[in-house]
Amino acid sequence: MKKILNYINGKLVEPATQKWLNNVNPATGKDYSLIPDSDASDVEEAYKAAANAFPSWSTTPYAERSQILTKLADLIGANLESLALAESIDNGKPVSLASHVDIPRAESNIRFFASAINHFHSEAHIMEDRGINYTNRKPIGVVGCISPWNLPLYLFTWKIAPALASGNTVVAKPSEVTPMTAYLLSELCIEAGLPAGVLNIVHGLGPSAGDAIISHPKIKAISFTGGTKTGAYIASKAAPMFKKLSLELGGKNPAIIFADCDFDEMLKTTVRSSFANQGQICLCGSRIFVERSIYTKFKEAFVAKVARMKAGNPLDPSTKFGAVVGKDHMNKVLEYIQLAKEEGGTVLTGGNRIFPEDEACAEGYFIAPTVIEGLDYMCRTNQEEIFGPVVTLTPFDTEEEVLKMANSVEYGLAATVWTSHLNRAHKMAQQLESGIVWINCWLVRDLRTPFGGVKSSGVGREGGFEALRFFTEPQNVCIQLTS
Ligand code: NAD
Repeated sequence: MKKILNYINGKLVEPATQKWLNNVNPATGKDYSLIPDSDASDVEEAYKAAANAFPSWSTTPYAERSQILTKLADLIGANLESLALAESIDNGKPVSLASHVDIPRAESNIRFFASAINHFHSEAHIMEDRGINYTNRKPIGVVGCISPWNLPLYLFTWKIAPALASGNTVVAKPSEVTPMTAYLLSELCIEAGLPAGVLNIVHGLGPSAGDAIISHPKIKAISFTGGTKTGAYIASKAAPMFKKLSLELGGKNPAIIFADCDFDEMLKTTVRSSFANQGQICLCGSRIFVERSIYTKFKEAFVAKVARMKAGNPLDPSTKFGAVVGKDHMNKVLEYIQLAKEEGGTVLTGGNRIFPEDEACAEGYFIAPTVIEGLDYMCRTNQEEIFGPVVTLTPFDTEEEVLKMANSVEYGLAATVWTSHLNRAHKMAQQLESGIVWINCWLVRDLRTPFGGVKSSGVGREGGFEALRFFTEPQNVCIQLTS
């Protein structure tokens, strides 16, 4: 079986532990490769390589760092098809999604920060005739980047690109559930001529390899994307060591639909915002609130469209809806559907495990896209993150009422508002407790904008100069003017 390898000090190496984990293809339910089950000794090697590489990388002119990263972006583009195929096999997502979203976006992440570093600037504060302050933004040193399984290469590159562009060296860990494309990226880093030790990728489990990164006393900043519970744990470990922390965590996003919206556009986009990547995008809208006057019209049209969505073999280019990421996750989502029924919900479509009409997927982990109504907005189904192809429908009468329901959760990542009323759109955006608000659209991304959540959805912001600021330490230099 193919072995995924760690990438340490510019070389692809087996874990010191010589222990391996099975990597499962969720569409077939079969093991297909082996993942290093790395531990603290592998992380220590990665740290040493990164620390050795730091003096040279941090003083490499930014234009040169930019060129190397641009070469890496070019290589991702040149390998789009094989990376998309690998992502689809590893994650269960349709290959069409991986080739149109995940891999192109991984390429743009690297290209964007390779370019952004050429434009990054810092401030000067002039004290009339007394002096001048300028802000020296220095790379931090060795930083840790830890990413989840839902958008594997996409989110991995979203972290490492700004870290590297701003002159840090990195110890990174992709999710053990979907490690393949990060491994393939390490091969491309070698081809791109990234100097040894600048990026180190250690594969393995959160409580061993991940924990060794966050607990390492000399890894001074952690950029983490994943679940809220893991984020809280990481914060508790990192805070006493005064590490800089960026946490992108869970969500339970509202989609708010007013009767005056463009119905057709809203309907098409709401199907996507509910079920893209099998609902496993932190930005998916899982609580759909609909103004009562169009509730029945929306429900009928939405359920009809969703019921027509067919799960298929993710490797078939025509498949739009694939497998969920794994068996445990599938069982967790099915348990939530059962809970919704116990809480009084009515399943309007879906609600069960399914099998596509393809022999290869006979043991795969597929769940029918599921729509539920009739639940109280405070019940567990409407409060807890499910992170699968499950949405709830709730009618509302007034702006105040829907705001109260939308803001009732512990999370605050993204919200979508559908209305043609300009003032209402702005008013809702002001009052929604979320880091991102999309008005009459969803997942429209400008990489320059601040990205992240409030409340239990995270701390800090990624994206654009926010990310470059996170990965640098500002130092004020004050020069007194003497006459
Ligand atoms: P997770 O928290 O289980 O794992 C995320 C990463 O953290 C993995 O690499 C894992 O190995 C590592 N990890 C786990 N325990 C660790 C520990 N003790 N120390 C260090 N590292 C550890 O999350 P997941 O199941 O992979 O991802 C799904 C979650 O990610 C969802 O909650 C989703 O909302 C969230 N997410 C958030 C965003 C965002 O931008 N806010 C984006 C995507 C996913």
